[in-house]
Amino acid sequence: MSYVFFDLEWNQGYPHSEEDKLDEIIQIGACRLERWDGAPEPFSAYVRPAIHRKLHHRVRKMLPLKMETLRRADNFRVVARRFFRWCGSNPVFYTWGNGDVRVLDMNLCWYGMEEYLELEIYDLQRAFDLLVLHTDQQAALKDAVEALQLDGDLTYHDAGNDAAYTARIAAELVRRFGALPTTDELDYIEAELRRERKEQAAAQADATLQQVLSEKEPIYHRTCGLYKSTLDCLKSRNARVVRCPKCESWLCNGNWLQLEEHYVARSRCLEHGRFYSCVTVRKNALGTKGTMDLFTPEDFTADLFRLCKVGGTQISIGKSLKKRKRVRKRKVKAIASK
Ligand SMILES: [Zn+2]
Repeated sequence: MSYVFFDLEWNQGYPHSEEDKLDEIIQIGACRLERWDGAPEPFSAYVRPAIHRKLHHRVRKMLPLKMETLRRADNFRVVARRFFRWCGSNPVFYTWGNGDVRVLDMNLCWYGMEEYLELEIYDLQRAFDLLVLHTDQQAALKDAVEALQLDGDLTYHDAGNDAAYTARIAAELVRRFGALPTTDELDYIEAELRRERKEQAAAQADATLQQVLSEKEPIYHRTCGLYKSTLDCLKSRNARVVRCPKCESWLCNGNWLQLEEHYVARSRCLEHGRFYSCVTVRKNALGTKGTMDLFTPEDFTADLFRLCKVGGTQISIGKSLKKRKRVRKRKVKAIASK
């Protein structure tokens, strides 16, 4: 078994036709390890473009590459076959992120090389994010190299060099943490991380919310009335509709975010901006009683609302407000007489 790290550079067209949408591979770079502490075997080959005749300005800006160099290279089929032969009989593939996999599959399909499709490819970026940074945000290759204090002697945005960096990162992760987690294990770590983040945000949002409710002066404080259930209370006009304190326009609250017995939502006046509502419910033998406080963004900040979003539970009410039933006596009579 060998570990194969690969990286691709590709060119794009200006989207006018179907052909122009293809991200055309112009370089395949790779690095092979027979053992985690073994010496890296490099592979790098340019690919002669057959679809896009010019380098896209974004590609030109990023890659130190000339079209003349590419025109002297072999075509995709030849380079791809050479690459897969070089990988050996039993390779395990690794890339940084999953963008390269998408582009590889797209090119293999374009050239009818389906036999190489659906390789199992391990996303090393995800392992790095979760093991080292404890986030699910996708770190750039360069940032990972720096975070792990690895040798940064090669220039980036060359497929061969980027593949070499990916291999260095993998070897370092194995050195620090032992065998790399399987994809299932990464799913589990990610789920745990999200749960922890939600819990932390919920605790923080709850504490800040208590502080706002006890220390800040609301624009107004009113009772919503007594309802059969909390959901009925939240759906009610009393909870959902507020008046802009500056121009008196009617505003409607969006979905509710629940934090314990508090329900938070925001509304927006086109002229005067955001306002934040907090409905606090108390249950008694007769039903649910709600009180509502309306705050300005100076007292109830956008940051607090963001925390509520991460830590709270969203309760969708739906777009339309329940219309008040008005009995139209004349119409009813007219239908009845037919
Ligand atoms: Zn207003």
